[in-house]
Amino acid sequence: MADAIVRALLEDSNLKVSVAVLTETARDGRRKHHLKAASASLFAQGLLGGALMASLQKGETRINLQLECDGPMRGFFVDAAANGDIRGYVKNPDVDMVLSQGVFQWRAALGNSGFISVLRDVGGEYYRSSVELVSMRLADDLNHYFKTSDQVATRVALTVQHEGGEDLGRVAGVLVQAMPDADVAALERIGRDLETRLHDAVAKLEQLDARALMAELFPGVPVLIETPVRFTCACSRERALATVENLGVDEVQHIVDTLGSTAVTCQFCGTKHEISLPDLWAMLERLGRPQTKH
Ligand SMILES: [Zn+2]
Repeated sequence: MADAIVRALLEDSNLKVSVAVLTETARDGRRKHHLKAASASLFAQGLLGGALMASLQKGETRINLQLECDGPMRGFFVDAAANGDIRGYVKNPDVDMVLSQGVFQWRAALGNSGFISVLRDVGGEYYRSSVELVSMRLADDLNHYFKTSDQVATRVALTVQHEGGEDLGRVAGVLVQAMPDADVAALERIGRDLETRLHDAVAKLEQLDARALMAELFPGVPVLIETPVRFTCACSRERALATVENLGVDEVQHIVDTLGSTAVTCQFCGTKHEISLPDLWAMLERLGRPQTKH
């Protein structure tokens, strides 16, 4: 089943809802960055958070969701577009600890302090806002972010469930946000047990997809928009070549003299772009220092 975000409107209460299922996207991110279990689980939550926030954006815009913390995980960076394209990385891919259950389960990995920072593209202008982590639990800290920074009444819930031997068995999330003139008391009510209801609905559904999850959480509410989501990156060999060439003639010469070839690994998707000796020679020629080739 392909990953997607679906959006709907609760007309009685003027609340908008986004529901995301990102199981394949999270697994893809894990493969690309070779993530150990705890890193993979945190990254899955980060992807959910980023995708849900991007679903609130208009048109071709994107958001960056960044978490920095003082625990071994150190943080993550997610770049999510309103069209469903998403990429990112975890600062420490190797966190493999078994996390205890309960509200403190992420403290061992995230530590005791840090912040969430969001960069939003609003009609071509960029807005950055940061809040300190208070819960050391991503969904709760996103709720805190919306409350203190965005000041738009919002509730987020995330779940990453094991299935068989797969850590990323089921990866899903939901965001409910007040529109102007919304029934804020209704949002409060929904928010109270949103996480439990999400968890139970995701565990219960035989075929988990975003539409089915929306129907389970909000029966009878029609889906207005469905956006496929995939882990994808805009990097390319051409950009990698340009990055090296931009180092300048002396640096490229130094690579030729000392290494003979090099590679540029994309931080966002882990792709290794190989730069060969002939590539470097071509650069030096363009930079005005042609080489005598042997
Ligand atoms: Zn890339």
